[in-house]
Amino acid sequence: MSMMQPLQVNEIINNKQICEVFLCAPQGGMRKSKRTNTLTLISDKTKLYDDRIIDNIYHYTGMGQVGDQKMQSQNLTLAESERNGIEIHFFEVLKPKEYTYRGQVELAGVPYQEHQIDLEGNQRLVWIFPLRLKDNRAKFTSLSQPSNDIYALQKEIKQVENLPITITEKERIIKGRIGQGKFKERLFDRECKCALCGAIDPRLLIASHIKPWSDSTNEERLDVDNGLLLCPNHDALFDKKLISFDNQGSIMISQTVDETAKIFLNVNEDMSINLSEKQLRYMGFHYRHRIQ
Ligand SMILES: [Zn+2]
Repeated sequence: MSMMQPLQVNEIINNKQICEVFLCAPQGGMRKSKRTNTLTLISDKTKLYDDRIIDNIYHYTGMGQVGDQKMQSQNLTLAESERNGIEIHFFEVLKPKEYTYRGQVELAGVPYQEHQIDLEGNQRLVWIFPLRLKDNRAKFTSLSQPSNDIYALQKEIKQVENLPITITEKERIIKGRIGQGKFKERLFDRECKCALCGAIDPRLLIASHIKPWSDSTNEERLDVDNGLLLCPNHDALFDKKLISFDNQGSIMISQTVDETAKIFLNVNEDMSINLSEKQLRYMGFHYRHRIQ
């Protein structure tokens, strides 16, 4: 048994229709249905991807979002698809909630493993399945042009993270070359002075992450709402968590900073800053980790 109603190549349907046609689960990128003997693969381009197309062979990343991927369940079904007789149907999501049918695919080579970064930012092993469309008139959408700046940046970060160098070195490269520059540009688009004292010389202002860079996901590292523009003194105090801000934006100064230092560093208990709701969410993390 195959799909309940035949689909045309390039036909766009919604998630509910996929479930009706293939009698499969309503979620997941690899959906197996015993009743129709099908495996439905979904390549969602609106999300972060490491899939790529080389000579119209689609290198599809297997199932499992965190940790090493295992050769089991759907991954195993796909790997054995030349022998188990299952039909594999392929969809691309180019816009949220729109599933474009590309037709049936088959393995174009032996599945292989590679390193990728998982959703939590950790290096892990994934399975890659080379796939070919059975209908040679059909085509995959090329992934070479990411639709949106943020995806390009995230991809660049991932590439650096995959380099065989130390974490400190990676952080330095990413901050210097990719993340920090763009991040600062975006912060400057929004404000152009120290959030605390109003110092305005752009040569001195530092784009600080509220939730520290090392604790942030790639999305959070590039999120302008996770940013605060500060002068060097205030950045140093904030970065070392010797100052933080409560949910009213009022400053909390560590008791370990003495009165003289406060004067020279220009901080006092009466100071406060304005924070948006989104910035407050990040500040909650910083606040909980402050030095009291
Ligand atoms: Zn300042």
